[in-house]
Amino acid sequence: MSRMIYVDNAATTRIYPEVLDKMMPFLTDQYGNPSSLYSFGQYARQAVDEARDTVAECLNCRSDEVYFTSGGSESDNWAIRMAAHLMADKGKKHIISTAIEHHAVLHTLKALEKQGFEVTLLPVGQNGIVSAKDVRDAIRDDTALVTVMFANNEIGTIQPIAEIGEICREKGVWFHTDAVQAVGHIPVDFAKMNIDMLSLSAHKFHGPKGVGALIIRRGIRFPSFIEGGAQEKGRRAGTENTAGIVGLAHALKLSCERMEKTIPSLAAMRDRLITGILNTVERTRLNGDPVNRLPGNANFSFEGIEGESLLLLLDFKGICASSGSACTSGSLDPSHVLLALGLPHAIAHGSLRITLSDENTDEDIDTLLSEIPPIISRLRSMSPVWEKIQKGEDYE
Ligand SMILES: *Cc1c(COP(=O)(O)O)cnc(C)c1O
Repeated sequence: MSRMIYVDNAATTRIYPEVLDKMMPFLTDQYGNPSSLYSFGQYARQAVDEARDTVAECLNCRSDEVYFTSGGSESDNWAIRMAAHLMADKGKKHIISTAIEHHAVLHTLKALEKQGFEVTLLPVGQNGIVSAKDVRDAIRDDTALVTVMFANNEIGTIQPIAEIGEICREKGVWFHTDAVQAVGHIPVDFAKMNIDMLSLSAHKFHGPKGVGALIIRRGIRFPSFIEGGAQEKGRRAGTENTAGIVGLAHALKLSCERMEKTIPSLAAMRDRLITGILNTVERTRLNGDPVNRLPGNANFSFEGIEGESLLLLLDFKGICASSGSACTSGSLDPSHVLLALGLPHAIAHGSLRITLSDENTDEDIDTLLSEIPPIISRLRSMSPVWEKIQKGEDYE
């Protein structure tokens, strides 16, 4: 097979070789338990402490606000469940979120609804951005929590987090953000943006899988999420994933150091791809906001095709991409994010998400621009829906 082109970096990223190097000692000779008293264990302890300091420096939070977890899903579950139950004790059982959150958030909210919480899911505009004013208007006396993602994993839109943070702080409502797609990709400032809780995951910024963090503002008094030993100040028990934590911190450090260079270079590749596709493939739209989006994200809808067939044909060409439509459960329901933009089902079905990283090259963009249009033509030539579109018939 010819060279593989990996453009699904919102799903996961390749671990940076330098990150693996930093982790290796803790997977081999330095296997001490960070909680042990002898100096062999203390070496691991020191590595975990240093990792906490690095994360704090990159995100402008305090080291004692960083709690390591198993990843983004756990951090989201922890933040939302903790806030909900703490506030329920004060009679506050209303939660505000958006229609385009990750399932780790949406499904947690669904579970809380069954337990008697009331959830308001704010809509987004056609550009995939939630309005800070809508957040302000939705806050009630019994609002326990606002949870709004920093950047969307499908359409890449960046939400007005600083504005929402300011509103929540002013109203005295806790604010959590799922920043899994933002951390390591765009500037994130925990303190300045008035965030109370923030979720992140290492494998989305060239770190290892299965490790993440929840940043929790100092002063919030909260119970433990996992009972057991005294790790993570007694809030999240379990022997530390030393190698993973070290890897997370180093990947974050490198990503943040490189950001100044990667943002403009990714945005240039992204925009060349977007312009190229929109100029050559008719009846195609770019989903999300043209400007206010992650530097590596492009998401298209092609009328008259099925996203799944497109992915298969791309796979034959060695191209790893993703469809906007979630068929994870075997259902062919289009993605809730694309539907929230107001796209009709038929159009949401024909979607393609390309997510670039700093490991992609201009040659990759050339290949995408030469491979995608003929595949779309081929699929359309076999599509009864496309035939109807050509005849100007209704095809919904
Ligand atoms: C990937 C992702 C998650 C889940 O993170 P894991 O570490 O894979 O559990 C949560 N939220 C968003 C926005 C994501 O992109």
